[in-house]
Amino acid sequence: MNEYVQRVIHNTSEKHKDQPEFLQSVTEVLKTIEPVVKAHPEYEKAALLERLVEPERQILFRVVWNDDKGEVHVNTGYRIQFNGVLGPYKGGLRFHPSVNLSVLKFLGFEQTFKNSLTTLAIGGGKGGSDFDPHGKSDAEIMRFCQAFMTELYRHIGPNTDVPAGDIGVGGREIGYLFGQYRRIRDSFDNGVLTGKGLTFGGSLIRPEATGFGVLYYIQRVFEHEGLVLKGKTIAVSGYGNVAWGVCKKATELGAKVVTISGHNGYVYDPEGIDTKEKINFLLEMRASQNANVKMYADKFGCAFMEGKKPWEVKVDICIPCATQNEVDLSVAEIMVQNGTQYYFEGANMPATNEAIAYLQGNGVLVGPAKAANAGGVAVSALEMSQNSERLSWSCEEVDQKLREIMYNIVDVSYQASERYGLKRDLVSGANIAGFEKVAEAMMAQGLI
Ligand code: NDP
Repeated sequence: MNEYVQRVIHNTSEKHKDQPEFLQSVTEVLKTIEPVVKAHPEYEKAALLERLVEPERQILFRVVWNDDKGEVHVNTGYRIQFNGVLGPYKGGLRFHPSVNLSVLKFLGFEQTFKNSLTTLAIGGGKGGSDFDPHGKSDAEIMRFCQAFMTELYRHIGPNTDVPAGDIGVGGREIGYLFGQYRRIRDSFDNGVLTGKGLTFGGSLIRPEATGFGVLYYIQRVFEHEGLVLKGKTIAVSGYGNVAWGVCKKATELGAKVVTISGHNGYVYDPEGIDTKEKINFLLEMRASQNANVKMYADKFGCAFMEGKKPWEVKVDICIPCATQNEVDLSVAEIMVQNGTQYYFEGANMPATNEAIAYLQGNGVLVGPAKAANAGGVAVSALEMSQNSERLSWSCEEVDQKLREIMYNIVDVSYQASERYGLKRDLVSGANIAGFEKVAEAMMAQGLI
């Protein structure tokens, strides 16, 4: 491996021993962009990689809120403003007990390349809190969102940093966050958050965008590979926002999703999650106070496999849409044994580096998260454009732009991979294409 790349990986590992998710992501990205670094010796002199792996700003704060019984709770709030060379920091807010600095730094780092791939003017950021929304009442969610924004507001703005949703943060939470921002600022700057309700500046298709984008990505990859999506079976994990969009678009395109999952097990529906009633039920479950994927099995009379992951089901395509590192080497082995040939990531970093290497080594075509799930942030950026120009595009207009962006991401990934002699390696292709643009802008903007 190139000595400079190796040194930066080593130094980052030494410095951040306590941040495994961040190190996993840095190692994966730096290894795959090695040929570009080799071709640009000037990067070393400008300490480009050292700057690339160091967030521009990391904000940590206390969030204090009252539950319905009047008891006081204290959580930690975060915002990582990772890299702003291409535009205002942009990336979601995650509310989940597993949130910590390592998780948010990996997400912010990945977001930088993902946003670059969209070709839109957005930098990389991520944030959230270790707050657990499960089992909380609507009033508690609102009070938490208000307390969170009471500190966050001073660090964000339509030209500075524009958060969106992620795990545990959907349209409802974005509404409460925006309401508090507007109250504190006394200004209707609706370009400060994306994923808003349609009555106050939200974009059509935004809730579905990540899932739709995954399917457009697959559709384009299949065109490159000379394959047909119609009739293919799909295993999905998660039952949240991304999983819902995947089920909806897969059905439209004639493919069939047969599994969804939660933290406690998975549901197998061999008939397919393919009717309006079934697909809409995902939204109902996700919004209910005691959200649990088993509710789907009970309602539609199918099997719930407690404590198990959906990857044991034989399908053509696997699309993890839940959380990080749910696909380890043992899961990758099962996928290969089952004859799965296509693996596309709806969630962020759902697989370990070892699992990805195993899948690729066994001929499975891998579509990485930063490319395959970029549709959400792409439509978020389209929402920002609509807000700044006081426009409201139709469903068809947004959907068409989303499709074009996803197709372009696939095309540039293939091109970058071929340019460096890495045929059909869409993981390296996406990292290289995303990195090239960020690196060029960093060099042009000097030592900051
Ligand atoms: P949601 O909160 O809507 O859904 C999260 C889903 O993941 C739920 O089904 C939840 O099940 C499951 N889940 C969460 N944590 C775990 C865990 N530790 N183990 C097993 N299952 C878990 O989130 P989203 O759909 O918005 O996000 C899903 C993934 O997609 C995340 O990786 C996110 O970063 C990524 N993503 C999301 C985008 C978006 O637009 N929303 C954009 C790009 C990426 P349960 O309730 O049972 O825990």
